[in-house]
Amino acid sequence: RIVAHAELGAQLRDAIDAELSRPSGSSRELSRPSGSSRQLFLLYQPIVRLDDGRTAATEALVRWRHPSRGVVPPLEFIPAAEQTGLIVPLGRWVLREACRQQATWLRDLGTAAPQSVSVNVAGRQLTDPQFVADVVAALDDAGLDARHLTLEVTETAVLDSAEAVATLEALRGLRVKLALDDFGTAASSLGLLLTCPVTSLKLDRTFVAGITTVARQEAVATAVIRMAQALDLAAVAEGIETQEQARMLRHLGYRFGQGYLYARPLPPDEVAAMSAPALAGRNPSI
Ligand code: C2E
Ligand code: MG
Ligand code: MG
Ligand code: MG
Repeated sequence: RIVAHAELGAQLRDAIDAELSRPSGSSRELSRPSGSSRQLFLLYQPIVRLDDGRTAATEALVRWRHPSRGVVPPLEFIPAAEQTGLIVPLGRWVLREACRQQATWLRDLGTAAPQSVSVNVAGRQLTDPQFVADVVAALDDAGLDARHLTLEVTETAVLDSAEAVATLEALRGLRVKLALDDFGTAASSLGLLLTCPVTSLKLDRTFVAGITTVARQEAVATAVIRMAQALDLAAVAEGIETQEQARMLRHLGYRFGQGYLYARPLPPDEVAAMSAPALAGRNPSI
């Protein structure tokens, strides 16, 4: 098992190296997962407005098509990448790729484009001294304004880390948006709201799953939206799978959501196909 683990790590390292050595610009044509030889690619899950179901933003989610194992889900390789430090070059690649994709949508779709791309960032990246410079370089190379980028961090990534909080302050100084992901699942959430300069909260899907049947889940979802409103933060509900959940969340005051009810993580051309021009002045944004 340990040997298998080490082997997987070495293979992931090769896959990252292959992406990083690809001449810039060549990934656009190769970005479709099917029929391409790329091992690492990004899918984008729409974050929708709950009132009309339109795509407001997307979240980039990494996939690894292993040469013999098929597609390995991130929960199987991200933790290993965090332990080995491979998350730093992997995360750098994800950031660059997502910024380029967002710039492409803005160019191709104009006002119909999703307004921002969210990128998941691991704790290990936030304490990397190069991270802020990496973000600046990814935005510059893509020609993307910082307001179109949201970085998602988890409570555990910023907990007890003054360094991570300082990084977040620097990112806010650049006007990058910051979301607290999986909100409610770790300890100390409330203290973090005082120390972390986040702009939105993502209610974890464990509180959405039974929201229409489990009184405590509804109570937590209610408390989170009230707190977000009081703190002037946007709130996104994760993992919406049914119309009943969506109705309840809207009723509680949530304006944004994400989940299989609306869309699974999709390749870029399918996101573009789903995007329709927004009605001027009517839509909130995150
Ligand atoms: P996350 O950031 O909380 O992302 C949401 C996860 O929930 C995604 O799983 C998504 O496919 C899944 N999901 C979305 N809607 C639904 C739904 O309605 N029902 C259910 N059951 N699941 C839903 P995925 O893509 O497997 O990613 C899992 C986790 O891996 C992410 O959780 C994130 O923590 C991590 N991850 C993914 N990509 C990256 C990355 O590029 N960098 C880092 N550091 N972490 C990543
Ligand atoms: Mg996330
Ligand atoms: Mg999440
Ligand atoms: Mg989650």
